Amino acid sequence: MRQIVRWGVVIAALLVLIGLSLSGMLASLDRRLGDWRLSLVPTQPSGTTVVVEIDSKSLAEVGVWPWPRTMHASLLDRLMEAGVEDVAFDIDFSSASDDWADAQFTAALERAGGYAYLAAFGQDDGAGGTSFTRPLPQFAEQADPVLVNVLLDPTNARVHSLPMSATDAFGEVPSLALELARPEFPVPPVVEIDFSIDLSRLARLSYTDVLYGRIDPAFLAGKQVIVGAGAIELRDFFNTPLHGILSGPIVQATAVETLKAGRILSNWGHLPGLLLTSFGALILLLTRRSSIAFTGLALLVSAPLTEALALFAYAKLDLIVHSASMHVGLLLLFGLALADDGYSQLLGRRAALRRLRFLATHDAPTGLYSRQGLLDRPSSTHPQMVIALQPQGTDELRATLGHDVVERLLVQFAHRLEHAGFPSLARIAPSTFALAGDDNGDADHLSKKAVYITRELSGIYHVDEHRLYVEIIAGYAAGPFDLPELINQAETALVQARANRTNVHGFSPADHAAMERHRRLDRDLRGAIAGGQLRLLYQPQIALRTRKLVGAETLMRWDHPELGLISPAEFIPLAEETGLIIDLGRWILEEACLEASRWPDSMVVAVNVSPIQFQHSDLVAVVTEALRRSGLPPERLELEITESSRVTDPRLVSTTMWSLQRLGVRLSVDDFGTGYSSLIYFRDLPFDTVKIDQSFVRDRSSPDAEALLAAIIELARRMRKHTVAEGIEDEATAALLERQGCTYGQGYYFSRPVPVEQLLQMLELETKTPARA
Ligand code: C2E
Ligand code: MG
Ligand code: MG
Repeated sequence: MRQIVRWGVVIAALLVLIGLSLSGMLASLDRRLGDWRLSLVPTQPSGTTVVVEIDSKSLAEVGVWPWPRTMHASLLDRLMEAGVEDVAFDIDFSSASDDWADAQFTAALERAGGYAYLAAFGQDDGAGGTSFTRPLPQFAEQADPVLVNVLLDPTNARVHSLPMSATDAFGEVPSLALELARPEFPVPPVVEIDFSIDLSRLARLSYTDVLYGRIDPAFLAGKQVIVGAGAIELRDFFNTPLHGILSGPIVQATAVETLKAGRILSNWGHLPGLLLTSFGALILLLTRRSSIAFTGLALLVSAPLTEALALFAYAKLDLIVHSASMHVGLLLLFGLALADDGYSQLLGRRAALRRLRFLATHDAPTGLYSRQGLLDRPSSTHPQMVIALQPQGTDELRATLGHDVVERLLVQFAHRLEHAGFPSLARIAPSTFALAGDDNGDADHLSKKAVYITRELSGIYHVDEHRLYVEIIAGYAAGPFDLPELINQAETALVQARANRTNVHGFSPADHAAMERHRRLDRDLRGAIAGGQLRLLYQPQIALRTRKLVGAETLMRWDHPELGLISPAEFIPLAEETGLIIDLGRWILEEACLEASRWPDSMVVAVNVSPIQFQHSDLVAVVTEALRRSGLPPERLELEITESSRVTDPRLVSTTMWSLQRLGVRLSVDDFGTGYSSLIYFRDLPFDTVKIDQSFVRDRSSPDAEALLAAIIELARRMRKHTVAEGIEDEATAALLERQGCTYGQGYYFSRPVPVEQLLQMLELETKTPARA
């Protein structure tokens, strides 16, 4: 559409330009440019044409007017005597004067023997033909008539050309120029006068100087003479290019010189200018928007270029070109380009404004509402509900695969959400989304809906070449609250879901307190290491057959000065979320290794390692350093790794594990059987030990549960891996596991997690009591 308008405007501009050119409104500019061009390439006259002027001096000398024709007779005689070639009178002899004088002149003409010519003026007879003001018949019998008409440019009333002949009822009359110059080449019916001829070099004589013999006849010999009125008072004047006002005979002499020089000029008028402008317009229309400065420069350069071309055309190609239309055309085009540019900028500003408005209420990458956009929606009078959704593991992904991959993942997630057809979707935080809608008061329905969404949207996402398993968790809230409050509640519920390691959590007022506590712990954890509030407990691990102490698992405790003892189950996920687990993990490894280096050589220390540590720190270097500092042999360190959904880059975990194995460190799967990963994962990684999760150990309610336990132990045995049963709380369980072939046991039955001093006491005690056979 825009393009059509552009074409329309340019065509209109070209039409205006044509109108300007044809109406003569550009004439003044053309006149100046044309004159300037003529002045640059002056042409020398032939020197064979002489103008004898009835000038003011002659008029003064003679004293009367009109002159008796006897004077013309004498002049003619004198010229013929001097041996001139031709004499053409640009004087009106169409009416009779006194008979005697006319007879004298007739005689002189006769004496001239056909080398004298008399002016004839053609004019419209008003009936479509031409009538001539011819010389009197008695003169015409002796001297041929020559046409002295010139043609004026209608736009500026300046002489520019003359017809080479004209015909009336009495026959054809050739022009004075044609008669005197007698060109040997074909001449067009109308000839452009070449006003570049240097008229200062044209020989001009005073009538009376010639008449009274004051001119050397030798000068006149062989010349062609034009006699005519040169004095202002005689009013035989024309406006001409470059030279301004010229008398009739001078104009005729210039025409004669034009033909003598053999210069037939073609007048192309405005055509080249219009064509060039059209061409420029075409370029402007077809090129995609270039800078206005460039367009300006191009147009600026084309102005002198046009003039140079016009000059070249005139000097070398004998072409007369009116360049004003080109210049005006260029200006017009520049104006249009400016307007076009201005319009584009206006459109650009409008688009930017629209985008700004969009961005104020939307999230650009996903196109969903922003938090503010969701709040700004026209509010519903119904009670509202909000479900907050969060893909898990995005922080780890951001660290391992980069921001762009995560952004694309989130955009994909947003699109899936949209496809599911939920209205009023928003991205309320970098990786938190929300959907809002009317609440029908059915809490069960809302919970089912949240569960449905997390199930539908959890799964594999393909981003670039990555195949990512993403788990979605949800927090929801509903009730007689305004939208901002509901959004806050849903977010609180989301945090709670994450802390509880559940997928969906509905907001309850207790969550606020939990949230507060969560925030508090989050804030205080960093200072806890430095403040010495963290300490390590050790829970003994027993060889089930001999019931001897073979090692201990390091378990962290936080003595919060105000909140009391805080479980690692609560603060470890927090440390994982904030990344503090990296520093914390390093500290535990160093402490545990140092402690264990003082134990008997048979004792292994087990340390829990979070999956985050695998992905964000150089775990191999950290472990190597801890071993080096403590002097603990690597085979006495066992790292416990839980199977986790938070593993976003299994390849990295795998390489690290193999490096640790090469180091000689032992590896165990913690909480085996509850995790997310497949048995293939388990098979392909270099684990030495399987820690059977407490839930399998403690729940022996059915024969099936026992069978499952037995199967896990058998599986590990076949894979040549040790088994550690966690959570043994009584002898019966210990005995059962022993029977089933489980290697080691750990649990309250043997000992709760204890400070290191207590562990050492137990060791001491053990060395004093004999082991079971
Ligand atoms: P886990 O590694 O599976 O540790 C075993 C948990 O079971 C410990 O809880 C321990 O106190 C408890 N437990 C041991 N025997 C019994 C029993 O007979 N009955 C019952 N009911 N529980 C028993 P704790 O110390 O609260 O630790 C919880 C979890 O916190 C650990 O589970 C581990 O995943 C994590 N954790 C603890 N310390 C650290 C640490 O230093 N680093 C890391 N990354 N995680 C740690
Ligand atoms: Mg453990
Ligand atoms: Mg465990």
